Amino acid sequence: MDDKKVGLNEAQRGKSFKKNPINGTKYTIAISSAKGGVGKSTFATNFALALSKIGCKVGLLDADIYGPSLPKLFSINTKPESDGKSLIPVMKYGIQCMSIGFLTDEQTPMIWRGPMVTSAIKTFTQKVLWKDLDFIIVDMPPGTGDTQLTFSQEISLDGVIIISTPQEIALQDVIRGIKMFDKLKVNIIGLIDNMSYFKGDDGKKYPIFGEGGVKRTAHEFNKKFLGEIPINPNVGKLGDMGTPIVEKEPDNEISKIYIELAKKIKLSYL
Ligand code: ADP
Repeated sequence: MDDKKVGLNEAQRGKSFKKNPINGTKYTIAISSAKGGVGKSTFATNFALALSKIGCKVGLLDADIYGPSLPKLFSINTKPESDGKSLIPVMKYGIQCMSIGFLTDEQTPMIWRGPMVTSAIKTFTQKVLWKDLDFIIVDMPPGTGDTQLTFSQEISLDGVIIISTPQEIALQDVIRGIKMFDKLKVNIIGLIDNMSYFKGDDGKKYPIFGEGGVKRTAHEFNKKFLGEIPINPNVGKLGDMGTPIVEKEPDNEISKIYIELAKKIKLSYL
């Protein structure tokens, strides 16, 4: 991991749009990827757990209306309760959670037009009783669409972490993502190289999807490189079981990477 402090300094913070902050939280950090399948939801859930394990009060908002992952990744089958006006987040692993997937059947497709998605995002940010949080981690849908625009322009975002794998095809999309957030004046905290290599039984690192591309892209666009997360089959297995690796195996080398990053973010913001 880059050992410099990550996140915003006071001057940068002042530059972000402060439109409608989410009630009940100090900071809102989005996890974004321009391409699907690069491990964004895996990162969002494990990073939220890492922040929680180091003593932060954390909320996790699954903002992927078309493809919610949180019900599966946190094994949540309950519906959020309501006080008649607002929704109460579902508590799991000490984290306040919200997802459209809590309100719909697992196999029901969300066949919604853009304005309906925007309206759902506003409900989740304004009509949910988030309580006393240090951070809300927002798992964005992939791409550069309505949800990203709504968060960037109408809701205050304190920073975004961009996840990528090292393939060239993923990096092209990352560049589009960087340019979008720069244009919208959202602070990019940095880039993560996920599934960057596989460590064999021989102890050697095998860069299955290529090497160095995410770091190169970060430097090219003057963004911080936040580090590499290796491929580990347990990450997928534990995610599928609804107990992410940071929850189930906090001493695993992957969990330690998440916890180190969480410590840096905590230090930068709180
Ligand atoms: P996205 O949110 O970008 O669509 P996901 O988080 O759903 O991506 O991850 C896509 C797949 O990759 C999932 O099966 C997940 O378990 C797996 N995955 C993510 N990160 C890793 C990793 N570091 N090692 C192994 N598998 C991973």
